Amino acid sequence: MASGKTVVGRALAKRLGFGFLDTGLMYRAVTWAALRGKVSVTDSDALAVLARVVTLREEAGVADPAMRVLVSGEDVTASLRLPEVDAGVSAVSAVPAVRTVLVELQRAFARGNSVVMVGRDIATVVLPNADLKVFITATPEERARRRHVELAQSGSQTSYSAVLADTKRRDRMDSERPVSPLRPAEGALVVQTDRVPVEDVVDRIVAELKKKVPRG
Ligand code: C5P
Repeated sequence: MASGKTVVGRALAKRLGFGFLDTGLMYRAVTWAALRGKVSVTDSDALAVLARVVTLREEAGVADPAMRVLVSGEDVTASLRLPEVDAGVSAVSAVPAVRTVLVELQRAFARGNSVVMVGRDIATVVLPNADLKVFITATPEERARRRHVELAQSGSQTSYSAVLADTKRRDRMDSERPVSPLRPAEGALVVQTDRVPVEDVVDRIVAELKKKVPRG
């Protein structure tokens, strides 16, 4: 959480002219649908049904194409970072049947396309044959600081210490879950983003990509 993966991924995709998918939004969409439908985040069967109504629509902006996430055709992208979605998403994403449905959509997005895909299990599970695998990380304190700034900007009063505690809680849940736990893929380029500007991280990844795919 708040490792910088989405900001870096989007900038990288822009630099390379590739498609971009932040898969966290898809788990968030299922969580949003569960909250709206008053479905418990522990009801696996009902959650798997909800995962099937999540779809993606790429909006081709002139300079910056953006991915919209739909639930039963309704664009819910703007609601996906609400605190109540944050609170439920780790439980929803631990449901194997939800993952099966969403991973299928993610693979379909990558099939035959040049894409940057961001998420906890992309290099380990979703696209194990990716040309380049990157594990972006930062200390819990730095990630909590970033999230705290983001929350304050959206009007939230949550304290830094509460955000830090939540960061550590979600790290634990995502790393210890039995299905697709958060971990670096073998051979992944590990990038620490504490105090490193986004453009520098992107440069580093592009340089690595050029080594792996010289003419890519
Ligand atoms: O990256 P983001 O914070 O938006 O992801 C929200 C949640 O979705 C994560 O905490 C994690 O539980 C889940 N997730 C996942 N696998 C992915 C992407 C996100 O389990 N590929």
